Amino acid sequence: MQIDVITIFPGMFPAILGTSILKRAQESGRLRVTMHDLRNYTHDKHRSVDDRPYGGGPGMVMRVEPIFEAVEDIRRRSCASHTRCSTLLMSPQGEPLSSPVAEQLAAIEHLILICGHYEGVDERVRDALADRSISIGDYVLTGGELPALVLIDCVARFIPGIIGHPQATDEESFKHGWLEYPQYTRPAVFRTMAVPEILVSGDHERVAEWRKLQSVAKTVASRPDLIHKNIKLSGE
Ligand code: SAM
Repeated sequence: MQIDVITIFPGMFPAILGTSILKRAQESGRLRVTMHDLRNYTHDKHRSVDDRPYGGGPGMVMRVEPIFEAVEDIRRRSCASHTRCSTLLMSPQGEPLSSPVAEQLAAIEHLILICGHYEGVDERVRDALADRSISIGDYVLTGGELPALVLIDCVARFIPGIIGHPQATDEESFKHGWLEYPQYTRPAVFRTMAVPEILVSGDHERVAEWRKLQSVAKTVASRPDLIHKNIKLSGE
């Protein structure tokens, strides 16, 4: 999978992309991430990427021309006609990133991510250039770089071969609408806190049953909104 990121801060990416699973994913050739400095697509001597908002108001807005130029250049150079390519605008106003959305995006061979800054991006980018806008949550960050990294990490986990145990993503929180059951490792007793006895019983059937019940109990306690979603889905 190829991911191109358009940003004014390419220096924010190497630490995260050069570590752990994302690093190995790139080394194995399953994932390729390329950063593009938006300022390389400007033509004035200040390499300006922002300007004042029409209608007045505080802050600056990211200009439309360099963003169009950058996306069109990347599409021309690396969107082969036989591959699926999708351009995503990182935006708090976008559709919420979720496991199903990430899984869907992982099936697309080529993603182009646009990172905004300041008061945001000229609306014509959303209207006429991006295929989708994606939000990582109902809060506003200073820029689209952290959201882009969150999306890359989350999507990468669904690319076959990137996670060591394929069933790991299958049992995970949100996959089937529930939070995952509690996990423990050695020691069996830590400061008087013992792991649930059933987990050391060796009875795989009872362990599986216990995990199902714990999964439901955890979801009810921490995320009752998911229960409503599950009920709605099963009624459809
Ligand atoms: N004025 C905008 C608004 O109220 O919707 C917020 C702009 S924000 C300060 C600057 C940039 O950060 C956005 O263009 C977007 O790229 C990114 N950003 C901030 N919060 C985000 C979120 N929750 N999800 C995705 N991107 C976000």
